[in-house]
Amino acid sequence: MLADNVFLKIIDKTIPAKIIHEDERCLAFHDIGPKAPVHVLIIPKKVIRTHDDIGTEDAELIGHLHVVAAKLAKDLGLAAGYRLVINCKEQGGQTVPHLHMHLLGGRDLGWPPG
Ligand code: 5GP
Repeated sequence: MLADNVFLKIIDKTIPAKIIHEDERCLAFHDIGPKAPVHVLIIPKKVIRTHDDIGTEDAELIGHLHVVAAKLAKDLGLAAGYRLVINCKEQGGQTVPHLHMHLLGGRDLGWPPG
């Protein structure tokens, strides 16, 4: 089962997070349990529960998340490369029911993922 949507509380600032980017459409903050030297989550402010729930009306928003990810990767010094991950639903490893993109970097990342 997907857990409660803690990311809404981060958007509302009712729980703290190390926020590194905010604009009218999205928020980015450091993951509380980093899996790499750089592990940032980029989330839309709009509630979209999973990648499966993205609609055609969200195309520009999803593009925006990628533009922000590319800028943050530069800001965070990931010139050698990085990985973007979106886990979808239980079998994809998603635990928070609010669409989020993981930005991972700062070490060699194995492939295939577990
Ligand atoms: P998922 O497993 O759903 O793809 O990713 C959820 C991510 O959210 C995990 O990497 C987890 O460490 C992170 N996370 C869960 N709760 C919090 C929280 O309260 N604050 C922050 N900053 N990250 C969280």
